[in-house]
Amino acid sequence: MTTADVDAAPARAIVSDIAPGGGPEATPRSFSYCSQQYRVLFGSGTIARLGEEVERLGIRRALVLTTPQQRDDGRRLGATLGERLAGQFAGARMHTPVEVTEAALQVVETSEVDGLVALGGGSTVGLGKALSLRTGLPHIAVPTTYAGSEMTPILGETHHGVKTTRKSQDIIPDTVIYDVDLTLGLPPQVSAASGLNAIAHAVETLYAADANPLTSLMAEEGIAALARALPRIVTDPADAVGRHDALYGAWLCGVCLGAVGMALHHKLCHVLGGTFDLPHAETHAIVLPHAAAYNAAAAPAAMARVARALGVADAPRGLFDLAHALGLPTALGTIGMPSSGIDRAADLAVHNPYPNPRPLDRAALRNLIAAAWRGDAPVPFEEIRR
Ligand code: NAD
Repeated sequence: MTTADVDAAPARAIVSDIAPGGGPEATPRSFSYCSQQYRVLFGSGTIARLGEEVERLGIRRALVLTTPQQRDDGRRLGATLGERLAGQFAGARMHTPVEVTEAALQVVETSEVDGLVALGGGSTVGLGKALSLRTGLPHIAVPTTYAGSEMTPILGETHHGVKTTRKSQDIIPDTVIYDVDLTLGLPPQVSAASGLNAIAHAVETLYAADANPLTSLMAEEGIAALARALPRIVTDPADAVGRHDALYGAWLCGVCLGAVGMALHHKLCHVLGGTFDLPHAETHAIVLPHAAAYNAAAAPAAMARVARALGVADAPRGLFDLAHALGLPTALGTIGMPSSGIDRAADLAVHNPYPNPRPLDRAALRNLIAAAWRGDAPVPFEEIRR
């Protein structure tokens, strides 16, 4: 199994230009598109097909992966595999620390494991990816949050506090089982934050430098499904329609994340999360309206599609109002970021330039981060720049 260079990964689509005067429906005049290979089982009760998938992949000794918090869920799932269960590793942690992967690798070796079943959110799926990449073992991902990692060829790992990212087709799980029933226990606030995290993938997909009509379709549909679903879930976490729509939307948004390049929003969240150890999904929920406002006038067609998906007139305001209505934190200051870190974050945000609809302006980004730290509503670029 090899790790391809990020730029050599085939999942890229290049838009050469957009039809002049086009609104949200404008089709790029030319673009390239490469699909990824996925196998997805979606619906209520689909986990009952795990044994079938294990057999299909020729797995005789599966290792079930979970976080410590989902240990019991993993034990129950493992029991359904009968003789095909080799054991469980319940040590998955946020940001895929290499020392955790190495501890799991020892279990793989000593228990003669020949396949992996990752049950959980992005942290557990990340461990499944890290193990599969190192060993070549088949990987079945069973996502229980809306983070979307299972749909991407991306693996982010941390070693001594330093995060590195790899991209390879071999990182994509062999099978993804989306069982709506497994998301019913995801607490409403975690669901809401995770759902906003997924929406963020789709928002940046719509204005990505390498966007294409297919990813744009998925992005708009993904935002609409999640925006419909999340208020229902917060009101009633067991709402089956809401849970179905949310997981469907998260799937689409995950595909988007894996297919095109992300921009300012993801860079900011990466910087803030990594530097101040902030919770991943909540950071996304807070930053997204501000990043959208920064880019709005530079990406009007994308913003029109976000607004249409949300059913609002103004996309950044709509994203802010959605997060507020879901009861999510709206200030970085309340989730652990010190005010003394604002300047440092602004410096890091302009380090290593990356494609973004609007050029990066350190002073404006400093004000943006300060506004997100306070919990202000998003304001257009012209105002944030002052
Ligand atoms: P997570 O996986 O850390 O889960 C958060 C907590 O919720 C954990 O304690 C988990 O056990 C628990 N949990 C998960 N599902 C549950 C359920 N249904 N019921 C009850 N509890 C449940 O959080 P996340 O937001 O899913 O993932 C974040 C991580 O994923 C980060 O490390 C992020 O960098 C990574 N990520 C990677 C990619 C990628 O493409 N590589 C994409 C998105 C996220």
